[in-house]
Amino acid sequence: MISQKRKVIIVGAGMAGISATRKIYGQDGFDVKVLEASSRAGGRTHTTTVDGVPIELGATYIHGTKKNVIFDLGKKFGLISGKGKREAEWEEYTLSALLTNGESVPSDIVLKCYDKFSDLLDDIEPDASARSWASQYEDTYTYLANEYPKSLEKEKTTRKVLKEPYCNSLFEVFLHLQSVVEGEEDCKGVSILCPYVDLGGDPDAKFDDGYSYGFLVNKLLEDLPKDMILYGREVVSINTESNPTMVKCKNGDQFEADHVIVTVSLGVLKRRCLDENLLPNESSMFVPPLPVEKLKAIHSLGFGNIAKIVFQFDQEFTSKCKFKPLMILWRPEDKDDPVIKKKFPWVTSLFTVERISNSNFYETWFHGCTVAQVESATKEEIVEGLCYILEKVLKHPIPKPIDVHMHNWSSDPLFGGCYMVDLTTANTQINMSALEEPLTNNRVLFAGEATNQAHFATVHGAYLSGIREADRLIKICTS
Ligand SMILES: Cc1cc2nc3c(=O)[nH]c(=O)nc-3n(C[C@H](O)[C@H](O)[C@H](O)COP(=O)(O)OP(=O)(O)OC[C@H]3O[C@@H](n4cnc5c(N)ncnc54)[C@H](O)[C@@H]3O)c2cc1C
Repeated sequence: MISQKRKVIIVGAGMAGISATRKIYGQDGFDVKVLEASSRAGGRTHTTTVDGVPIELGATYIHGTKKNVIFDLGKKFGLISGKGKREAEWEEYTLSALLTNGESVPSDIVLKCYDKFSDLLDDIEPDASARSWASQYEDTYTYLANEYPKSLEKEKTTRKVLKEPYCNSLFEVFLHLQSVVEGEEDCKGVSILCPYVDLGGDPDAKFDDGYSYGFLVNKLLEDLPKDMILYGREVVSINTESNPTMVKCKNGDQFEADHVIVTVSLGVLKRRCLDENLLPNESSMFVPPLPVEKLKAIHSLGFGNIAKIVFQFDQEFTSKCKFKPLMILWRPEDKDDPVIKKKFPWVTSLFTVERISNSNFYETWFHGCTVAQVESATKEEIVEGLCYILEKVLKHPIPKPIDVHMHNWSSDPLFGGCYMVDLTTANTQINMSALEEPLTNNRVLFAGEATNQAHFATVHGAYLSGIREADRLIKICTS
């Protein structure tokens, strides 16, 4: 039994902060406050509703449906019925794969080649026996680039593809799809021995039509007192040299805490804790500075960049456009198109366009260094670039999208990117567990997706990390 209430400050109201708060709030003996820098909860889950349609600007899928806490919560709150929408969508899946001169590649060939590609990815799951031979490769890129042609060679139907002029373009699209998952440039440097554990079931499940991550966040906040989360409180310093710990915000507010749970992204930790990234007049977020092992992990782990763009069309385009999704296979000569080179070079990294359910919204994803170009482009430039390439590929005029929806995750200082990527190679060993190690006799604890070694880069990983640290705190305080 705790005699005096322990003051707990949770930094960040993303999924990790929310789960930790709910868990601790449910216990006697704690006084919890959440300090959130922005004006909303949810962090990298971010839904905006346009014309009644919820649009995900951040997390979109639920990765795995077996024992996935997010899938289970979605079901509990009535946001998911059956198996999850994505699986149902794929049953009526029709794919168009078009070269940049408008020629089409048969979808059955594309899907066969994609099966080969994804089998290779399955082979490097942590528990697969193939992993021992896969580890001869430096990174995921070299593994895929070497093994994919060999796996096409094995079957008559796919062997023919090796001689097709589009063979490399197809590999480029598949590599793009995986690079969006990894958030890293063409999977280069991405660990082949990554400890991520797939949960099984549908890897890309979704909420039912009309529901989204935003609904889940609202449901999770319903049980918490409204004033528990203080918005507009960007934490600039966590000082454990004073006792109790002093937490200072940019707006001048200060809070005393017995324990602090830090849930900010790895991108924020990189910016606010590594000397070389601090802006003039900015000091480290932690006083005293973080221990060397933790700083090394923050420095060496990658924080991937992706951009998700949602285009809003009017009714007519929807009825004309049958593709779901459209794959764009770039012919090398079309990448040299002078208009593209001059006006929108990022367009050469546009590989897929997918319709969101039966709406007038279509989404596309970018990865790696193109993200900076996309985030700095204006909406008009983005629309012009999209129309230019789609008209070339589809060979007919298309109406202009009436709006573009996206969040600039990479340039937003409250995130600094999208999600953690493991860059461990034979030559770069990274102690990932150092990131979650508590500090100063458990006065500062760390949660957030990047601290979850088995499920980083996901919403369920973030949620579980919050529970993990809440449990740690409860155990310390009650034993
Ligand atoms: C574009 C995109 C697509 C994604 N797609 C998927 C997907 O399909 N499926 C999936 O499972 N995952 C996906 N993810 C990853 C998933 O969204 C994250 O792993 C998860 O939401 C991270 O939650 P978190 O609580 O760890 O961190 P965050 O959500 O980053 O929460 C941290 C909070 O801290 C706040 N903050 C930052 N600095 C401070 C400060 N100094 N003081 C106070 N508050 C601060 C931030 O505003 C934020 O609200 C995607 C992410 C992105 C960006």
